[in-house]
Amino acid sequence: MVWKWEQGRLEYFQFDELRKVAKFGVVNDLRQATRSDLETAVGLPFLPDDKAYRPWRNYGRLFQIAMIATPHGPREAKLTPIGKLLAEEGRVTTDEYLHFLAQATTQPSPALSDWDHTKPLRYPLLFALRFILARAAKHEPRTNITDIINSYCENGFRGDEEQDAFLRILNVDAGAPPGPAGARQSSESIKVLAQLSYLTATKSEVTVSLTASDAANLFEDLKPVRGPTRSNGAEEIDRRAELFLSANAKVEADYPRTILSSISEAGFNDAFKEGRRVRRTHVSIERNHMIRDMFFKQNPGHACDLCGMNTRQSYPWTDRLLEIHHLLPLCSGARTSKDGTLLEDLVANCPSCHRAIHRYYDKWLVQKNRIDFADAREAKIVYYEAKREHWTAVGHAGEIGNAQRT
Ligand SMILES: [Zn+2]
Ligand SMILES: [Zn+2]
Repeated sequence: MVWKWEQGRLEYFQFDELRKVAKFGVVNDLRQATRSDLETAVGLPFLPDDKAYRPWRNYGRLFQIAMIATPHGPREAKLTPIGKLLAEEGRVTTDEYLHFLAQATTQPSPALSDWDHTKPLRYPLLFALRFILARAAKHEPRTNITDIINSYCENGFRGDEEQDAFLRILNVDAGAPPGPAGARQSSESIKVLAQLSYLTATKSEVTVSLTASDAANLFEDLKPVRGPTRSNGAEEIDRRAELFLSANAKVEADYPRTILSSISEAGFNDAFKEGRRVRRTHVSIERNHMIRDMFFKQNPGHACDLCGMNTRQSYPWTDRLLEIHHLLPLCSGARTSKDGTLLEDLVANCPSCHRAIHRYYDKWLVQKNRIDFADAREAKIVYYEAKREHWTAVGHAGEIGNAQRT
């Protein structure tokens, strides 16, 4: 049987959007919030357009699946410990959050009406992620999403089986049927996971950009969140959410071989211990070679977005000197849509500008005594601020506009 999830809500499951919901939930009751309150805070539509109708009726389930808020009593909602952490800037990285969601999402789900705490639990997202990682550990970085869902339905795995067991089920028949009925929801939940810094999604596939040994280690680190379950779904979600920090400490999410040396190369300072962790997620998106390949296929130019230098002309003996820079907050993942990973939050920078922009971020954040940007808008504003300062410094202020998209 496929697992349930929300359908057509991928936008709302983007890490940055969940952070905005959580920030809103710190000062407001999400259950009492009106449509316009939420739309102002989050910037997404909360339908239907009906004054008498609180968005919680339509979106409360989503907030519970995302483990950020739960209902308390007949009228109230409270942020879970995860919701409270997400509301703090730069406190939690996308990877930490999504690894935990994978470890704590079960079938049956305490967020859905068929919750029955006496039933044995399966961990569909953990299964999906470990299926993908087990293949990557075998040097097969690409996995078909339908294969994951078919395999989950057929083999009865819980998700926490040993690597040997996974290796036996990995090679599903090519050209298998298009997936069981209801698989669209399951497929969307895998697209939510594809915000992980080392994953890239297309419409039908997920690709891992970790070394085989990092993938194997991560496979071992990911374990289900267990414990005595509660019969009340909301209490069960709260109980699991309490375990976020301790579960997180056990997952080695730094992917040492995959991003080796890039930290010192990029010139990041050690101003904040947590900031370093935040930046590692950011760097692994920028080093994700699938994202890089997809980006340059769509943007075949050779000009640096910041200084405008055409690296092909300046260094004719080089092929592709440009690096990918991610414009979202440092702890944000690469956003996904139903068609896969979005590339619109990326720009190409020459190596000097890339280093310089991260130094600019460091300086900006240290001055503000922060470890991350508040949201995508702020991160982009700071990028363009740096760009403007550069053009002013080199004396061509008028060219800022021209170099914005090349
Ligand atoms: Zn440049
Ligand atoms: Zn960057």
